[in-house]
Amino acid sequence: MRESWHDRFAESLDVLKTERLRQTVVPVLDLEIGGDEFITMAGPCSVETEAQLLATAHHVRRGGARVLRGGAFKPRSSPYAFQGLGLAGLKLLAQARQETGLAIVTEVMSEDDVPLVAEYADILQIGSRNMENYSLLEAAARSGRPILLKRGMVATIADFLRSAQCILANGNPNVILCERGIRTFETALRNTFDVAAIALIKQISHLPVIADPSHACGCRELVPALARVAVTAEADGLLVEVHPDPDHAWSDGDQTLDFAAFDHMMASLEPYIALRAVRRPVCRATGSKLVEAVG
Ligand code: PEP
Ligand code: MN
Repeated sequence: MRESWHDRFAESLDVLKTERLRQTVVPVLDLEIGGDEFITMAGPCSVETEAQLLATAHHVRRGGARVLRGGAFKPRSSPYAFQGLGLAGLKLLAQARQETGLAIVTEVMSEDDVPLVAEYADILQIGSRNMENYSLLEAAARSGRPILLKRGMVATIADFLRSAQCILANGNPNVILCERGIRTFETALRNTFDVAAIALIKQISHLPVIADPSHACGCRELVPALARVAVTAEADGLLVEVHPDPDHAWSDGDQTLDFAAFDHMMASLEPYIALRAVRRPVCRATGSKLVEAVG
């Protein structure tokens, strides 16, 4: 790694690669995030109904997803928008896991909800708006669950890594970083997808990095292209919004893929994922869940 990067990100030392620790592999049920397999996490923005969630879960599993996403506690910019089903949503997620075997990732918005969400979720998602909520980061870290940390919409890479450092410093090594687009002067799309952040973080950090092309652009037509770009930038996986009927989704319908579009995207990713397997040095998980230096 360049010396200058080491200096620039020195506040987040534990996040940076070392000779001994080149790649963290986060164990989730029978999966390893950050290992050899490219992991797709897919599902609706919000958990709405049993029929919506279960249809989506079965479909994305058949299409190759390994983790089901879905918000039960939703951060909404309007107090009048759908705020999520709360506990009922968590129960539906657990039911979907039971039926499909998919692991569950869902957002926790408040420190007080951490024990409840940790009881149902396999991975706790910390949303963009909460990336710098340090009491939430601490509580989530202490739950012992793997954490999917989304980049704040105005967070620099250094800010992002500092929040990851906060989780590591609170005794939880299982952090997955998620690039989900940032605010820039460009307003044509919901956000600006910072693909260079993925490439850079993969060079300097041992933590797995995934991309969320849905929130990064806000527009379903562009999601597959951004997903392919994420694979070539060396991302370890994807977080993507899928719904049986996106035009009637209760949140984020514009950026959500329907089942056919999800299948099409997954097929289009295959050659890119195959190329990644060739380029990527073979990682072997050890008992300590860490993999040793190769390449
Ligand atoms: C989400 O994943 O549904 C979400 C709210 O994402 P973000 O925190 O990136 O806006
Ligand atoms: Mn969403």
